[in-house]
Amino acid sequence: MSDQVTHFIGGVPVAEGATFATYDPVTGQPVRRVHEADRAIVDRAVAAARAALPGWAALPVAERAAWMRRLADAIEERFEELVAAEIADTGKSITQTRTLDIPRGAANFRSFAEIAAQRPESAFHLRDVLSYTVRRPLGVVAVIVPWNLPFLLATWKIGPSLVAGNTIVVKPSEHTPGSVAVLAEIAASVGLPPGVLNVVHGFGGGSTGQFLVEHPGVDAVTFTGESRTGSTIMKSVADRVKPVSFELGGKNAGLVFADADLDAAVEGSVRSVFTNGGQVCLCTERLYVERPVFEEFTTRLAERAGRLKFGRPADEDTTMMPMISAEHRDKVLSYYELAKDEGAEIRAGGGVPRFGDDRDGGYYVEPTVLTGLPRDSRVNREEIFGPVCHITPFDTEAEAVELANDSEYGLAATVWTSSLNRAHRVAQSLEAGLVWVNTWYLRDLRTPFGGVKLSGIGREGGTHSLDFYSEPTTITIKLEPGHD
Ligand code: NAD
Repeated sequence: MSDQVTHFIGGVPVAEGATFATYDPVTGQPVRRVHEADRAIVDRAVAAARAALPGWAALPVAERAAWMRRLADAIEERFEELVAAEIADTGKSITQTRTLDIPRGAANFRSFAEIAAQRPESAFHLRDVLSYTVRRPLGVVAVIVPWNLPFLLATWKIGPSLVAGNTIVVKPSEHTPGSVAVLAEIAASVGLPPGVLNVVHGFGGGSTGQFLVEHPGVDAVTFTGESRTGSTIMKSVADRVKPVSFELGGKNAGLVFADADLDAAVEGSVRSVFTNGGQVCLCTERLYVERPVFEEFTTRLAERAGRLKFGRPADEDTTMMPMISAEHRDKVLSYYELAKDEGAEIRAGGGVPRFGDDRDGGYYVEPTVLTGLPRDSRVNREEIFGPVCHITPFDTEAEAVELANDSEYGLAATVWTSSLNRAHRVAQSLEAGLVWVNTWYLRDLRTPFGGVKLSGIGREGGTHSLDFYSEPTTITIKLEPGHD
């Protein structure tokens, strides 16, 4: 893709609006110029989506599903270009980008095509009354996504919103506009009807994101990002009572019982704490480990953290990526300092790696393992969103559950145990939208995804997405026996 990122409105690129730079997280050097959509450009994008709505909504679902499959095919054809765009914005490893981020984009379109096309409709028959429901799209949907998994999270919302018959305006994160800009080119290349998928770039509050969600021509908002931003958006759409679906922050707990396969628990926790530099909403930041295995688990996790590899994105064995921006790196480092101030013992990391090359200008931090903090420390309560965890020992199952649930967030939790009974008992006691047992991040796209408490509103995934992106109308008919 080019060094200049443009909006995509009504099926064509629009190179208008002031520009801003994005930076390579690996080196801190500027990579692209991105156009920022002001109110007038957002107006045009919403108008294009509205104009396309009647035609798109009127298509049979099988035809919209066929469009989703064409998009998935084209993603696979331009796979390496998407990989390159994602890496340029995020500094992710090529291995992760090729095996997770971009394939999940294609899978998002394919799976929602299947789910929508096969979805049964319901009818209720009571003597001489027949009630049935038809589902209608919400209208024009604003899709606002963050920077941590830019392509995966955007397509997770674009696929189901389109197949349900909505037209959309997508705003990627200001840090990571590249892969969704390629998707817009893909939409044009396969001939998706103009205006069905529009993309505007820019910042959040006081900029493109705010103009979009508040726009009177936008009927609903689907958002993934920080809990605080979700709260701001909710207030800004309250007057119009727009439907919202929010996938927000987390402070996820991992519970390691003494009967667990410790090798699996250590390796699983390496993944759940450090994947994507800890910049996944599902990453574990609080670990609770049963006292008999606490010291061994902590020593082994700290040792593994120290062996993660800060390679270049192109190196296939790279396992540590940079933070997304200088600002986010500084935020994560401020928590490393806070941990020291709060009295933590630093078992691994705690600082900034030095390379002696151009990566010293990048946004890297060391993977960090902490112990010794009280439960009410800020490090144990606030989402850091970096490669860091705090480990606390526990003595009983009840205590572990109570500690895990003592959070304002409730997105995900992980349980490591070899006891089937304990696995079910504990998993069902945790206040979280998602619980994994002896694994992490394994996903069936048909299952409901989302969080409780500050971690979100509603569920997406499978038919749950289709429920959000459409409204049922119940039609009830009085049947008159013996009449035409
Ligand atoms: P963020 O909330 O800062 O920004 C997310 C998006 O919202 C960006 O596109 C931004 O420009 C836009 N935005 C910001 N303010 C806005 C406003 N007032 N109106 C409209 N749009 C606005 O989040 P981030 O820093 O990009 O992402 C990290 C956060 O996302 C973390 O908290 C993480 O836990 C969360 N997250 C949650 C999930 C989930 O599924 N629950 C998945 C990934 C990330």
